[in-house]
Amino acid sequence: MAAAGDTTNGSLVGLPEPLMTSLTARSLLHAVLLVGTPTDTARAAGFVARHLLCERPADAPCGTCRACVQMAASAHPDFLEVGAEGLKTADVEAVQDWLATKAHGGRKVYILYGVDHMTGVAANRMLKTLEEPEPHVYAIMTAKSRQNVLSTIRSRAFAYDLAPAGPYTSTDPAAAEQLHSLLHATEDPSFDGFVDQMIKWTKMWLVERAPAWTLAAAWQSLSEQLPAEDSLLLLAEWLREVLNVRANMPCGRFQDWEQAILRIAPILEIHQWAEAIEIVLECRLRLQSHVVALLNFEQMCIRLREVSS
Ligand SMILES: [Zn+2]
Repeated sequence: MAAAGDTTNGSLVGLPEPLMTSLTARSLLHAVLLVGTPTDTARAAGFVARHLLCERPADAPCGTCRACVQMAASAHPDFLEVGAEGLKTADVEAVQDWLATKAHGGRKVYILYGVDHMTGVAANRMLKTLEEPEPHVYAIMTAKSRQNVLSTIRSRAFAYDLAPAGPYTSTDPAAAEQLHSLLHATEDPSFDGFVDQMIKWTKMWLVERAPAWTLAAAWQSLSEQLPAEDSLLLLAEWLREVLNVRANMPCGRFQDWEQAILRIAPILEIHQWAEAIEIVLECRLRLQSHVVALLNFEQMCIRLREVSS
């Protein structure tokens, strides 16, 4: 899968401009602290790690070099991440043991998740490592707030606040809660079925290249399971997830369907996925102004056909 590796990827994950600039210039300091929500910082930390390790700096993360492929397979020998379930002393020791081994390639990168919840003992152990940085070794730390990070740790890293979620990270704040409840309605057996049918529908559009009216009718019958607005919200979020994967970011909400996403993502370019999301959201807005649903879906599908032609 050839994915674009330009700097817009950085803004997709909310990386602040100065951080993106030093990444691109390959002048990043040995330790950075990313401050934001756990989801946003995890996404951004992964991006920074892939950028640092990519073998094609001009194009990083290119998604196709050996390092990028190893990262995608969670099998890069010079990358380590710890603390996803709380940073403990044993995690710090694991990092130190791993740092003591020789790098396979040019750089070693590790992520420490949630350094604001690190135990005092773990933090003290970590300090020594941060105080005596080795060349070509990068520490990426994440935290929800700067204040809760021990000042001794904080003073040894360059802190960046992540930009608030960009247009590709969520639909709109008002819809977020609604979506959350939709996606958590797992006791409702129809939900899994809905996503599977949405995948089928996406294939009808992009693989089988069904005509717009067929697509519209299919979406109409699919959305009988849910209020039309909710079904379009799910479709927009689904496409957004595909876009994110296209931009080399990990799956989030739809990770149970990762295999399908990986097959679908390369079909369109990033800007085409972005355009498709806009079309779906516009269609959803029009529903609110009481346009007849099927007509509205037809318009949406005609425009989606154009995006992919
Ligand atoms: Zn690469």
